[in-house]
Amino acid sequence: MTEMVRKITLSRAVRIMQNLFPEEYNFYPRSWILPDEFQLFVAQVRMVKDGDPSWKPTFIVKPDGGCQGDGIYLVKDPSDIRLAGTLQSRPAVVQEYICKPLLIDKLKFDIRLYVLLKSLDPLEIYIAKDGLSRFCTEPYQEPNPKNLHHIFMHLTNYSLNIHSGNFVHSDSTSTGSKRTFSSILCRLSSKGVDIKKVWSDIISLVIKTVIALTPELKVFYQSDIPAGRPGPTCFQILGFDILLMKNLKPILLEVNANPSMRIEHEQELSPGVFENVPSLVDEEVKVAVIRDTLRLMDPLKKKRENHFPDIYTDRKHRFPPVSDRMPSSQLPVVRSQQLTKPLAAKEDPSDSEPASASDGNTDPEAHLPSICLKQVFPKYAKQFNYLRLVDRMANLFIRFLGIKGTMKLGPTGFRTFIRNCKLSSSSLSMAAVDILYIDITRRWNSMTLDQRDSGMCLQAFVEAFFYLAQRKFKTLPLHEQVASLIDLCEYHLSLLDEKRLVCGRSGPAGGRPLDSGSPPDATPSAPPVEGHPPSCTNSAPKAAHSGHALS
Ligand code: ADP
Repeated sequence: MTEMVRKITLSRAVRIMQNLFPEEYNFYPRSWILPDEFQLFVAQVRMVKDGDPSWKPTFIVKPDGGCQGDGIYLVKDPSDIRLAGTLQSRPAVVQEYICKPLLIDKLKFDIRLYVLLKSLDPLEIYIAKDGLSRFCTEPYQEPNPKNLHHIFMHLTNYSLNIHSGNFVHSDSTSTGSKRTFSSILCRLSSKGVDIKKVWSDIISLVIKTVIALTPELKVFYQSDIPAGRPGPTCFQILGFDILLMKNLKPILLEVNANPSMRIEHEQELSPGVFENVPSLVDEEVKVAVIRDTLRLMDPLKKKRENHFPDIYTDRKHRFPPVSDRMPSSQLPVVRSQQLTKPLAAKEDPSDSEPASASDGNTDPEAHLPSICLKQVFPKYAKQFNYLRLVDRMANLFIRFLGIKGTMKLGPTGFRTFIRNCKLSSSSLSMAAVDILYIDITRRWNSMTLDQRDSGMCLQAFVEAFFYLAQRKFKTLPLHEQVASLIDLCEYHLSLLDEKRLVCGRSGPAGGRPLDSGSPPDATPSAPPVEGHPPSCTNSAPKAAHSGHALS
C-alpha cells in the first residue's frame, strides 16, 4: 500500500483511469512525472497557452515519497523547475495548482478523511462519517509571483502551519486551525449549500480512487499471498486528503497509507518547553475510526456469528461485544454526535441510533455511539463496477504471471496470453507480438525505479492491452475498445477452462483461476466481433455521475 500511494504511483494509476474515463476522473489535477515527462509537460503547457493566451496557470511541484509538505513549491512557469537545478533528476510530480479553493474565514483548508479498505477481494470500502479540516494560517490570495513562497497561505499541512504564530489551538471542534469536517458542513448547510451533494461527490471520489489503486495492489498481494489458500486478514486505514474548490467540487490531493492517529498535540508551555496535551478534535474523529475498524475486523466476530447466528443476524447486534474483553470504563467515548447529523440524514437505520436498554436491548455495546464507518462498497457497486476495467486486466495479468511471487510477466507468459486469448492474426504475427513486448517492457523498465525483477509490469501490460484493443476495435471510444477486448479474452479463456475441465485437467489455462473479484457480470456469453462490441457490460449504469446522490 505504501508503494501504491506514493505520489508518482498514484498519479500513474489515476492517469490510466483518466485515459479510459476522463470525465469520471477529473477530480485529480493534471499531473506530470519528473524527470521523465518534463519535456512533455513543457510542450503541453505551451500548447494550451498558445491556444488560450489568457490562461495563467500555477503548478505545484511535489517530491515523490515526500510528506508533510516537505520540498513542495509553486511555480508559474515550467522553466522555473529547470532553474531549480537538481529537480530535473529528482523524481517528483508536477501538478496543476488549484487556484480557487473554497475559503472559510478567508483561509484555505483541506479535508482529511479516513477510509477503511476492509478487503481487496471482494472489494469492501468504508468511509468515516467525519474527518478533519486543516486550515492555513495566512489569508489566501490567488497565486502571484510575490506570494508563491508563502507556505502558510498555500499549504494546508498541519505540520507546517503549527509553526505559524497564527495557529489557533481550540477547545471547540468548530473553531481554530483544526476542526471537524462535520462542523464545516454544518456551516455550509446553514448558508444553503447542498451538503448531501458534497458528501455524495466525496464518496464517489473515494470509491473511484480505490478502484484506480486496487489492480496493482492485487498484483502485490498475489506475489505475497498464494492464491487459493486462506491468507491473513489484511486491512488498511487510508488517509484521503481532499480539497474543496470554490464551486464545492472535491479534488483529490493525495492518499496516505499511514495516516497519523495521534490524538494529542504539542504545546509550548514556555520557550523551548513542550508538553503533549489532548486534542479534542483529533480524539473525536480518530478514536471513532479506530474503534469501528477494530469492531469490523475483529477476528472473533466470525466465530461468534457462527456460534450464535440468531443474535448476530439481528441488526441491532451487528457487532460482537468488545466489552466482554475490555471493561466499559476503558472503552473510548466519542464526545459528541454532531458528525452524524449532517451526514447521516438518509442512513440505513441500522447505522444510526444505538438502541437503548429500555428497548429491551441487552447488547453491551448499546450505550456506545453509533457506527462511524459507513460501508460504501459493495453498497454502491452497481454504479461503479463499469469502471473496473483495469481490475479485470489485472486478473488476466495475474493469471499469466505463472510463478508465485513474481510481479512481472515474462515474454513466454505474454505469448501464452496472446495465444490463449486468440489475439494473433494475419495482421498481428507472433513476431510482432514479441516486438511489442520488448518495446513496451524496455521503456517501462527504464522509467520505473523498481528493478527487482525483469519483465513486463502491470502498467506496461495495460499499455500493450490498450494498443491491442485499439488495433482490434478501431472505431470505438477507448473504454469500449478495452472493454470489448477484455470480454473477448475472458470468453476465450472460459472456453479453454471448460475444455480442460471436460478433459479432466483441473485448473485453468495459464495456471491461476480467474479472480473471483471480477464484476459478476464480466463473463461474456458470446465473443465480441471486431468493430462490434458485445453487449458491453461495462458501459452501462452511470448513475454515479448522472445526478444520483449517494447518501
Ligand atoms: P504532502 O504529502 O507533502 O503533504 P500534498 O500532496 O498533500 O503533499 O500537498 C501538500 C499541501 O499542498 C496540501 O495539503 C495542499 O494544501 C497543497 N496542495 C497540494 N496539491 C495541490 C494542488 N494541486 N492544488 C492546490 N493545493 C495543493
